[in-house]
Amino acid sequence: RTRKSGPVRFHQPASDLLHRVEVAHTELSFVVPAYNEAGNLPTLCKGLTETSKQLGYRCEIIIIDDGSRDETVAVVTQLLDHLPLRLLRLSRNFGKERAMSAGINVARGDAVIIIDADLQHPLDLIPEFIRLWKEGNDMVYGVRSNRSDETNAKRQAARMFYQILGRLSSVPIPPDATDFRLIDRKVADALRALPENNRFMKGLYHWVGFKSIAVPFQPLVRGAGKSRYNFPRLIGLAITGLTSFSQVPLRFATMAGAAISVCSMLYATWVAGKTLIFGNAVPGWATLTTAILFLGGIQLLFIGILGEYVGRIFEEVKGRPIYIVANDSGPTRYHETTA
Ligand code: UDP
Ligand code: MG
Repeated sequence: RTRKSGPVRFHQPASDLLHRVEVAHTELSFVVPAYNEAGNLPTLCKGLTETSKQLGYRCEIIIIDDGSRDETVAVVTQLLDHLPLRLLRLSRNFGKERAMSAGINVARGDAVIIIDADLQHPLDLIPEFIRLWKEGNDMVYGVRSNRSDETNAKRQAARMFYQILGRLSSVPIPPDATDFRLIDRKVADALRALPENNRFMKGLYHWVGFKSIAVPFQPLVRGAGKSRYNFPRLIGLAITGLTSFSQVPLRFATMAGAAISVCSMLYATWVAGKTLIFGNAVPGWATLTTAILFLGGIQLLFIGILGEYVGRIFEEVKGRPIYIVANDSGPTRYHETTA
């Protein structure tokens, strides 16, 4: 073996050491998933910094740029020098659930607060979250006190979804819970350890368990821009939620299949008997069509349900990373926020 002569050099920049000292001091991490939120982020980041300053906590604000196509990156880059920000740029749009996971994975705080970038989540609630956390709750989550801001159809759909999910899910998932929540380091570490690709965060938060408490609040109106969650996307999320937290649809398919088989066997016996005794007068066109359509429909539905699960298995076995980071501005340069 050859060995280069000369003194051993430690290429360890001073800033790295500083960072490590900072790690020991970071207390609150804000995780902000952002997709096209250039109009809202300056207000939000200033608000968050101000809030933590008032509380006397050190903070880092982690903005996860979820492949935005507007000025989000430029706007946040400008703020980097002035505020305790960290910008994590994903390589494309991975969706809010994955963006949140990315943020939770890099957060270093003793508590992680997840908050929307669109100013819908009132910052005034943060002191209350922290108070409840200090009282020994590992997770404090905001629940919509009412959905009066939404259309009637969306409200009904949400109610139905949570009712079905509540019945079917193996873990209780509180209805109308939002992603606005504080999680303790323990919960963040538990979430980090979950390998699954299909991230239905509202379920995962409760799957990991721990002591949690709800705080009702009224979401504010969105700042700039508009919501990305239209009806088809919400239905997609609902199906993900149901299939990753319940196997009841599969069991239901089995049961229904069994019931239909028993009925058709009885009916077949009756038809055969009748034909043997009375002969065949060839009617029954209506019965035949109905039966074919009914069974065809049921079969397609159940193949669809099966397909949902197979698709989910496929997603998981591929073992692809949950998200890909294109660029990371690095751990927050610690700002003394204590007043
Ligand atoms: N978001 C994201 N990736 C997406 C869609 C949304 O990171 O693909 C972020 C968005 O920037 C916002 C939060 O998720 O901070 C909530 O999104 P939105 O307001 O569209 O949803 P809603 O409030 O209607 O549930
Ligand atoms: Mg919103």
